[in-house]
Amino acid sequence: MSGAIRVLSEEAVAKIAAGEVVERPAAALKELLENSVDAGARRIEAAIEGGGVTRIEVADDGGGIAPDELLLALTRHATSKIARAEDLGTVVTYGFRGEALPAIAAAAARLTVRSRAATADGAEVVVEAGVIGPVVPAAQAPGTRVEVLDLFGRLPARRAFLRAAQTEAAACHDVVLRCALAAPQVAVRLRTERGEAFASAGTGDRADVLARAYGPAIRADLVAVDYATPTVRVTGYVATPERARATRVGQTLLVRGRPVTSRAIAYAAESAYAGRLPRGRFPVFVLAVDVDPAAVDVNVHPQKREVRFADERLVAGSVHNAVVRALEAGLRPPGPPPAPTGEWVPARLAPALPSARQTVVPWPEPSRPAAVPAAPVAVPAPVPARAGGVSPGFADPVTTASPGGAGDAPDALLGGLVALRQVRLTYILAEGPDGLYVVDQHAAHERVRYEEIGRADATGRAPARQRLLPPLVLDLPPALVEVAAARGADLTAAGFDADPFGPASVRVREVPAGMRLPGQVLRDLLEALGDPTDNAPAAHRRRALLACRTAVRAGDALGLAEMGAILATLAVCQAPATCPHGRPTVRRLAWDEVGGWFRRRA
Ligand code: ADP
Ligand code: MG
Repeated sequence: MSGAIRVLSEEAVAKIAAGEVVERPAAALKELLENSVDAGARRIEAAIEGGGVTRIEVADDGGGIAPDELLLALTRHATSKIARAEDLGTVVTYGFRGEALPAIAAAAARLTVRSRAATADGAEVVVEAGVIGPVVPAAQAPGTRVEVLDLFGRLPARRAFLRAAQTEAAACHDVVLRCALAAPQVAVRLRTERGEAFASAGTGDRADVLARAYGPAIRADLVAVDYATPTVRVTGYVATPERARATRVGQTLLVRGRPVTSRAIAYAAESAYAGRLPRGRFPVFVLAVDVDPAAVDVNVHPQKREVRFADERLVAGSVHNAVVRALEAGLRPPGPPPAPTGEWVPARLAPALPSARQTVVPWPEPSRPAAVPAAPVAVPAPVPARAGGVSPGFADPVTTASPGGAGDAPDALLGGLVALRQVRLTYILAEGPDGLYVVDQHAAHERVRYEEIGRADATGRAPARQRLLPPLVLDLPPALVEVAAARGADLTAAGFDADPFGPASVRVREVPAGMRLPGQVLRDLLEALGDPTDNAPAAHRRRALLACRTAVRAGDALGLAEMGAILATLAVCQAPATCPHGRPTVRRLAWDEVGGWFRRRA
């Protein structure tokens, strides 16, 4: 094998992207539906055959595509929805990557787009076996009709991963329902070989959509949600506990109008039912969360299915409160549980993997002293983050290794790690020459950020700043205002320009560029700098706080490239084994031990 690096052909790139965007028929259908909603459609007619594998058709009465733009719509990264990278932060349409149509075109045996914009004649273009045909005139009502035949015709490997047509059809049905819930003002219909599978009326009321999906009787069991804080608004409906189901199928979360999945937000809503639901039952709800566009990143997932909040706990808290209030207002006080058996646990406290706990051998297995030790990578004695003493790792990272990391051989091997995948949205599973590694994504990235900040300090490089016009006046407890007065130099070093403004507020003129929720970070920084129980030097506290607030968190979805970057930068850290607060970043399971399990010789 030659190790030469090649730039992939345009076609190969398109096919790889196709595999991501068009994971299964429902994913392609979702993209087409979103395009129709983006185009301002009032009516969308979708049809599938063979679970969407054989055929998907989506017709809408939206704004259409002018003939001279049809070809552009099939070009990768061509989009009418954002013009500049900066627009990403404020995008309000579903689409913005300009990837869906080209991806489908690259995957499918045949894609036909027929469209008519209000001021133009109808036109059609056919992509067959990846070859884009000419744009030809075609009869078409105002709007767009996209037809996909044999979705995986050109990605035969992908087909092997598909499940029965029935399962794929169910996933398509689910996507249509979520689309109708996200855009209740649009009449959305789905047909299959067996006739009409779903139709919403486009009344604008999500309760009407739920009634179409679950039957009109559900109306009596829905409680409206409408809750707002200065930063978050939560609206929608929650169903009474009797409507709960065995899975989360009945749950729809919308963030800025977009259907998303978020375990944390779902838990926040579910935990509001605590005491009203038995374990293993999941409430039905549709909840729309609206936050400032700057506080949420929708561009973290190829299918835009996941979101990342700047402050997930804040959003989760609002959702929880919203549902608690709705249930309190709409229900009688929690009575005896509806089922006679089972232990009652709030959803939030239910273990995620209750049965696995008993059957999976703990890792590393603790009860086998004779085995080769699992050789954890430089795990120091546990040090509480605020022990009243000096936190480990505060010394200048440029010159000093961590106490735990010193002399531990596996450190040197961190450079050879290959990220395999993310697990539980919290850990990076990686393969190394000498074993399997589990890396805590937050702790590891915190360490990386901590040393980066330390190096920037050492070179006198000030962080890039962003001017606030007008300045932000942040209300604070007077004690923190005093910290701000006394610690001006630390604030400057952190990239803030903030000074006292009366006894209970500070005026913030500049914040670190690109920082999310800088007001909150400034407050936390002041708290850390003013903490009387922490003896660590101020520079350490500042770096640790900033590292924590700018590192990825548990719950953040990471791609392989991001994970690879964290591992690679961790490997070159001075003290890679612990986070700035002393938690371990990485543990290793040596291949020797794995071999021992199976009685393999090295
Ligand atoms: P994106 O939605 O990210 O812009 P797509 O590949 O899904 O990328 O679509 C590319 C472009 O084609 C869109 O930006 C839009 O201009 C146009 N388009 C696609 N579908 C429709 C539709 N149903 N109605 C009108 N325009 C459409
Ligand atoms: Mg799109």
